[in-house]
Amino acid sequence: MASNRFLNALPQGERGEAAIVGVPFDGTASYRPGARFGPSAIRAASHSLETYSSFINKDLSGRDVIDSGDLELSPGDVDEMLLRVEEKTDDIILSDMRPIFLGGEHTATLGVVRALVKVYPDLMVIQLDAHADFKDEYLGSKINHATVMRRVADLISSDRIIKLGIRAGTKDELSEAGIEVPIPLEFIRQDGNQIIGSLPEDTPVYVSLDLDVFDPSLIPGVGNPEPHGLTWREFIQITRALAFLNFVGFDVMELTPKYDTTGVSAVVAASVVRDLTLSLLT
Ligand code: MN
Ligand code: MN
Repeated sequence: MASNRFLNALPQGERGEAAIVGVPFDGTASYRPGARFGPSAIRAASHSLETYSSFINKDLSGRDVIDSGDLELSPGDVDEMLLRVEEKTDDIILSDMRPIFLGGEHTATLGVVRALVKVYPDLMVIQLDAHADFKDEYLGSKINHATVMRRVADLISSDRIIKLGIRAGTKDELSEAGIEVPIPLEFIRQDGNQIIGSLPEDTPVYVSLDLDVFDPSLIPGVGNPEPHGLTWREFIQITRALAFLNFVGFDVMELTPKYDTTGVSAVVAASVVRDLTLSLLT
């Protein structure tokens, strides 16, 4: 009987190098809700994977990663959700582990970054996303999945966010995020691995991956699919480059499993989590 934890992860209370936490929250979803079921779908799909990744050439077998389960949250209370995420990240860092968050909606990233900047004042964030998420306000609210990176920029400044795969937003929003409009088609195809490879090795880097960064043909199970997304090859090139940096944690957000009846989106999302985890472990 497979556990309800990610792949071969250990239960809460054990010691490890990294800790996985689910954030089953989609309270601000604007178009297609359901990301609250993302973390459990990723865990269930992970049991179909090998612990060895031929892409990264590393194995999770024998490595100590904890799965702390899901945060308990009140539906729709975004401030409480962010507080719980921040507190959990504080705990993980205090236990000398690295945080891995599974979403749930992208807004949760703000809670992680609030905790990380307390210990890494020079934090950089690599945002992998189809959308800029850089609106100052959306539907009358300052904190939601469409404004989350603007709020992250308020904490670490926009030029400390490396934006990869972005291809959707309002014209003003994209300009404010520092993205050339109209977006050159090659922008999506730019060499993320080279950009990442040019970062100073000791700079702490957090990766925030919104699964809609991938092409919808690979992951249709997201709330806001956008064409012309990343391929698996491009993702692996980026993930390999991350292993050479001071990689301090990551999140994989926005899986909305009910929009993919084949279940392939969840399997690919679980592979994303496995390969980023292998890159995170030193
Ligand atoms: Mn997105
Ligand atoms: Mn996003």
